[in-house]
Amino acid sequence: MSENLRPVLKRIIEAGYQLSADGLEYLRTLEKGTREELMRRAIQRANASPDELYVLDQSFLQSVVEETRKKPEARRPLTGKKRGRPLASEYDAQLEVVEDHPAEPAGGVEGFVEYFRSRYKKMEGILRERMDVRDAVTIGRALKMPLKSTVKVIGIVTRKRARGHRLFIDLEDLEDSITVMASDEETVRKGLSILEDQVICVEALKYRQDLLIAKDFIWPDVPSKTPRRSEIPLCAAFISDLQVGSKLFLDDLFDRFLRWMNLEVGPPESRRLAARVKYVIIAGDLVDGIGVYPEQMSELAITDIRDQYEAVAALLSKLPDYVEIVVIPGNHDAVRKSLPQPPISEEYAKSLHQDERIHMLSNPSRLRLNGVEALICHGKALDDVLSQTPGLDFHAPVKGMELLLRCRHVAPIYGATTPIAPEKEDRLVITSAPDIFQMGHVHIYGSKRYKGVTMIASGAWQGQTSFQKRMNLIPTPGIAPIVDLQTHQVAALDFNRLGG
Ligand code: ZN
Repeated sequence: MSENLRPVLKRIIEAGYQLSADGLEYLRTLEKGTREELMRRAIQRANASPDELYVLDQSFLQSVVEETRKKPEARRPLTGKKRGRPLASEYDAQLEVVEDHPAEPAGGVEGFVEYFRSRYKKMEGILRERMDVRDAVTIGRALKMPLKSTVKVIGIVTRKRARGHRLFIDLEDLEDSITVMASDEETVRKGLSILEDQVICVEALKYRQDLLIAKDFIWPDVPSKTPRRSEIPLCAAFISDLQVGSKLFLDDLFDRFLRWMNLEVGPPESRRLAARVKYVIIAGDLVDGIGVYPEQMSELAITDIRDQYEAVAALLSKLPDYVEIVVIPGNHDAVRKSLPQPPISEEYAKSLHQDERIHMLSNPSRLRLNGVEALICHGKALDDVLSQTPGLDFHAPVKGMELLLRCRHVAPIYGATTPIAPEKEDRLVITSAPDIFQMGHVHIYGSKRYKGVTMIASGAWQGQTSFQKRMNLIPTPGIAPIVDLQTHQVAALDFNRLGG
């Protein structure tokens, strides 16, 4: 192989593909610069392809070259001066749903055993990808090791309790269980943010037959990486928690957002941003629902669930026709409350299903938007994570999201306020690091970058409820986070201030 093809081949393999023999021959015929540019586009196209594509061959590479030739006109970004067409209308959507496994319920008490086995196995696989966890042994093996040995074990946290200055954690794997004690200040501090039912690796010293002394805890975590980027400067709006039907739904603010999307309000710079928004992602709680909390009836403006969804459909119909809309349910929506939640059904939300631009998906869902992977969750589990973890609170939901990313699970805690369905496979595991991670539910906007992942807590479109007042929670309604899919910059558009 000629030396200068190596970087290109390395790139293909790193992206998870192979090159066919005729593909390799074809690459040899190209100039170096052309070749690198072609590979960049080819990987992007392959990532965005709905087919199970593993091998890139000559005909595929040629089709990428053809496509590039065809579109020179459309690739020039439009300036504000050019009349009419917004940039986002010039491009077809490249929207894909990844990892949409069908639900496979596992019934009864046994079902949960099966569910947690799946969680353990998936998480163990993720942990063992880490260099520092590869030498972990089973709990059974650790139980047989001599005292004072240093050992690493992986287990599900079945119980965590603090006694004085010490922390005790019970760990379980597929066969055995063991107790881990943390006593030095640093290890205790780290251990306090371990969530019940999460899977973690512990490096420890064997102290008694069934007791380990923790030296360190190792979270599965996400590896540091460079996020995938869209080739085209398109944007996506990540919103949630409209709570339509509530008397506190802020229709005026949402109307401003809709008019902004239609380039009718805002200064020129902001309109140019609006012209690039191709996707609107709504992470649940479209409606306030019926009977979700005791005193809700008196706080509703629309008291029929179907009418609430009709009102949502009427609002979303005002979005520009070139925009693709993704909808997942939240705990206020008319679907089962247990995670993962199936899409809101046509029975309740007929007009949303009839709108071709609206994609009704599950909670959680994983999307590819012009090659950029986004993990979309409603985020009910933040209630449990933010209330149970020392140092976290509801005013900074992104910190809870960061902890979930480190746990590689969107709802680790079982048996608190977030119900989880007993399925054969744990579909709530974060199997690979997304580029964007969105959660709503808390009604407080926030955004943060963590190891190349752009985290968005998407706020709300509802004023402060009586419940939030009691909880001393001040929501931040009317902010639409807009993510540039090419640069990963986040613009938080505040419609309380953007007049018009
Ligand atoms: Zn919610």
